[in-house]
Amino acid sequence: MKTLIAEDEPVSRRMLETFLRKWGYDVIVTCDGSEAWEIFQKPDAPNLVISDWMMPNMNGPDLCRKIREMEKSGYTYFILLTAMGKKEDVIQGFQAGADDFLVKPFDREELKYRIRIGERIIKLEQQILHLATTDSLTGVLNRRAFIERTEEQIHRCVRENSPLALLLTDIDYFKKINDNYGHQAGDLVLQKFTDQLTRSSRPYDFVGRYGGEEFVVSLPGADMSQSRAVADRMRKSVEEMKIIPQDGSEPIRVTASFGAASLLMDSKENAESLIKRADEAMYKAKREGRNRVCVAGEE
Ligand code: GH3
Ligand code: MG
Ligand code: MG
Ligand code: MG
Repeated sequence: MKTLIAEDEPVSRRMLETFLRKWGYDVIVTCDGSEAWEIFQKPDAPNLVISDWMMPNMNGPDLCRKIREMEKSGYTYFILLTAMGKKEDVIQGFQAGADDFLVKPFDREELKYRIRIGERIIKLEQQILHLATTDSLTGVLNRRAFIERTEEQIHRCVRENSPLALLLTDIDYFKKINDNYGHQAGDLVLQKFTDQLTRSSRPYDFVGRYGGEEFVVSLPGADMSQSRAVADRMRKSVEEMKIIPQDGSEPIRVTASFGAASLLMDSKENAESLIKRADEAMYKAKREGRNRVCVAGEE
């Protein structure tokens, strides 16, 4: 777990750093409040902060208030470290959004267990977030989480004037798989199918389950011809899969139809309109005989 120590007093700072590293935490150290705030502007910000009250440029409560105001996914557990132990100070710290206090000079064991409380809360929140955003059968993003992430990506790509493509894919004649092999085998096919989509994509691409046997893939940075290439690579790899059912009977073969659509820069495009065009292209692929890729806007 990533932690931040913001403390301008050298002895206390060094002690905190030594203990936290010894207990196995990733530690970033700063002696300045505004530098601590800068660390939070960057991606992959710390999950837990131990912050002094009085620091140069920004004090602990102000730092905490700013962190609470920011739109950030994932909770930040904030421990205020202070020589002030008066009730008014504690209340002022809580009002700023602090989760806990440690009064200096701190006790090593007390520090350890107070950090453990923060770690438990952060892990619980991560588990809940995972459950809320993941499709339980396939492990890819669920529909809502996929749309949310795609909206974020659209904003970024429009801002940076970089392309984005979206693929929508639907397994061909999937009903027959369920009818011929049973629902459990159908579930296995869905799992193997999404594994294959994930394997065929790059680290910054993301896959979501859009409906029963319909999946979506966001390809940030991909233009129209790249999206066609990715979709075709996925299509081929799906076609080559041999899925062995749990009962060891003959391998199941599947194919899928793909629709691709690229982000339009000159309009008020959103995830919904992008998915709609990819869906229309996918239906064209179905009409033209399945197991193929169609790109929106191409004849
Ligand atoms: P097409 O080529 O036109 O897409 O034909 P299809 O049979 O794939 O399409 P259809 O929409 O008729 O059937 C989709 C099937 O997917 C029906 C539904 O029972 C099945 N399905 C949806 N969700 C799940 C699931 O979670 N597990 C399993 N095993 N089947 C599912
Ligand atoms: Mg200080
Ligand atoms: Mg379907
Ligand atoms: Mg289908």
